[in-house]
Amino acid sequence: MTVKDIEGSQATQQHEGVQDDDELLVDTSKMSEGQAEALEVAESARQKEWKQPSFGSQLFMGTFAPDMLFPFPEQSVEDKKIGDKFIAELGPYLKEHLDADAVDETRTIPQNVIDKLFEMGAFAMKIPQKYGGLGFSQVNYNRVIQLVSSHCGATAVLLSAHQSIGVPQPLLMYGTEEQKQRWLPRFRKDAISAFALTEPNVGSDPAQMSSTADMSEDGTHYILNGEKLWCTNGAVADIMVVMCRTKPKIVNGKERQQITALIVEKNMPGVEVVHRCDFMGIRGIQNALLRFTNVKVPKDNLLWKEGRGLALALGTLNVGRLTVPAACIGMSRQALSVCRRFGRDRVQWGQPIGLHEPGRQKLAFIASTTQAIEAVTWLTSHWADQKKNDIRIEAAMAKLFCTENAWRIADMTVQMRGGRGYEKASSLQARGEEPFPVERMMRDSRINLIIEGTSEIMRLFLAREALDPHLNLAAGLLKKNSSMGTKISTLFKMMGFYAMWYPKQWINGSSFSSYPKFGKLSQQMKFVEKTSHKLARTLFHYMARYQDALERKQLILGNLTDIATELFAMSATCSYAVMQAKQRGNDEPLDLAAHFCWLAKRRIEGHFRSLKQTEETSANPIGKKIINGDYRWMEEDIVWVGDNS
Ligand SMILES: Cc1cc2nc3c(=O)[nH]c(=O)nc-3n(C[C@H](O)[C@H](O)[C@H](O)COP(=O)(O)OP(=O)(O)OC[C@H]3O[C@@H](n4cnc5c(N)ncnc54)[C@H](O)[C@@H]3O)c2cc1C
Repeated sequence: MTVKDIEGSQATQQHEGVQDDDELLVDTSKMSEGQAEALEVAESARQKEWKQPSFGSQLFMGTFAPDMLFPFPEQSVEDKKIGDKFIAELGPYLKEHLDADAVDETRTIPQNVIDKLFEMGAFAMKIPQKYGGLGFSQVNYNRVIQLVSSHCGATAVLLSAHQSIGVPQPLLMYGTEEQKQRWLPRFRKDAISAFALTEPNVGSDPAQMSSTADMSEDGTHYILNGEKLWCTNGAVADIMVVMCRTKPKIVNGKERQQITALIVEKNMPGVEVVHRCDFMGIRGIQNALLRFTNVKVPKDNLLWKEGRGLALALGTLNVGRLTVPAACIGMSRQALSVCRRFGRDRVQWGQPIGLHEPGRQKLAFIASTTQAIEAVTWLTSHWADQKKNDIRIEAAMAKLFCTENAWRIADMTVQMRGGRGYEKASSLQARGEEPFPVERMMRDSRINLIIEGTSEIMRLFLAREALDPHLNLAAGLLKKNSSMGTKISTLFKMMGFYAMWYPKQWINGSSFSSYPKFGKLSQQMKFVEKTSHKLARTLFHYMARYQDALERKQLILGNLTDIATELFAMSATCSYAVMQAKQRGNDEPLDLAAHFCWLAKRRIEGHFRSLKQTEETSANPIGKKIINGDYRWMEEDIVWVGDNS
């Protein structure tokens, strides 16, 4: 295989990958049974094919493709008009009729607000018009989520859990025409939906799933039993998609778990809301522990096919998780507005606190990082609409980047407000001050780093995709059952490929590229190009050293995926800023982007430095000793929670 072949396969994304019944490319012999099973389940659900180009996948291989994101995509005039009209009606309505602090305190989104949202079609934004929905583009849908999030996190989550991951999304992606016609129109009328994957023992690791659906003797329905935890909208949902185990399949002589997705209706006998969960933030959501006892689910309610439930859940999340970044924009823009006003009006030590150097630093961070969050969100949203690129890597990067940075912004905003940042809006109002809800914003935004794939799981996901081209190339060597002939031919194939590819990663292509279209930001684009080569060769060095065991080196991979994510954010931001500068007729957006790139560059340099230290990190042995209980002496003289075993 030549460099051209690999680059071609990345451009058209035709990686062969591990097929459903293929052997794993990663050696599981040194893993515990649980680890091996978790990996097998995850691999069998992983989308292996790459039918479209992926910016992120190429970045990991040292190919920087700026043409994919420049010029920055823009909404068509007609599409923008649709979004503008909806937002012009919804924004003022929310300001007047939805008291977000009352939602937080009472844990209730008023029914009249929910009714109004149904009347406007807000529960059917993403549903095509032929099924009665509004047929919004991903961009317009995300614009609405941004707006709602800027005001009330819980209401935004009600809408997004319903249609980003709830029944409409997987139904549109994997349902039959008959199933779509049957259920989708109900979401325009009055039905709320939910997505039920998590269980008490199933968080990030679905291999532990214990909910079961056995086929009835007459073959007409499944019998569903089990519990689902933290199901958002679960306490009020009329229709939900439930992931559960069905009859296992034998693959290569071994039993392989089958996770299947079923559509379950609240009024089916045996569906029970056991407990409504209460949280630190987004307190108005109707999130529940659900129990299913011998629920008869007609076999027509099977989504896609048996054994594809986890792939369905992951595929749903690939697009579904794009809403979380949009929510981060709403919160971050609100934070900027609060900090600007407070930074200007609050005078201490003889000048506005926003003009003291630490104040200026915070304002510059918040504004430039908000711009980057927007760039990443709108780029991935446009790509989702255009359907020309494979966005699974970029959607995960967007989720990771936007949630972690929005959290930093929330933290900084609380700090900027000092004691007022810690005080509830109702208390501020009671003493006659502007009721900026900063503490609620902070509580509401923390969950974004956990739901729809935690930050750690996003990094694992990105790392697996980063390694994919190398693992595929070496598949003939890594598979235990390969013949000697296959091993030798794989070795030659690899030598041929790396002999061409590797030297290219040392040639600084950015010396020959000038990126004139990026104007003031051309240096930043050169940095991205140069660093993508460094990233690719560093990944290769670790791959050569650890081979398939690299997949378990999470510190190394975490640093590499964070570098790639920052590079993606830098490229998106530069392109976005050029478009904004043209629209606004001045350089302000370019200056913001340059500042963001400076911050990102410093973080990237930190990641490369950390890579050198991961080998000798003292954290690993200390962490292990803590789990062993060796440091229990450090827990003395506190009032223990529970039995402190
Ligand atoms: C408010 C809220 C709403 C939710 N809504 C829904 C919903 O609508 N539907 C639904 O199905 N679920 C929902 N969830 C569940 C949510 O998706 C899970 O909390 C999330 O997937 C993480 O699972 P866990 O909490 O069990 O964490 P665990 O899997 O127990 O993980 C705990 C910690 O360990 C880390 N970790 C786990 N595995 C690894 C690993 N291999 N390597 C490194 N670190 C690891 C995690 O990143 C995390 O930091 C919701 C949760 C909350 C709190």
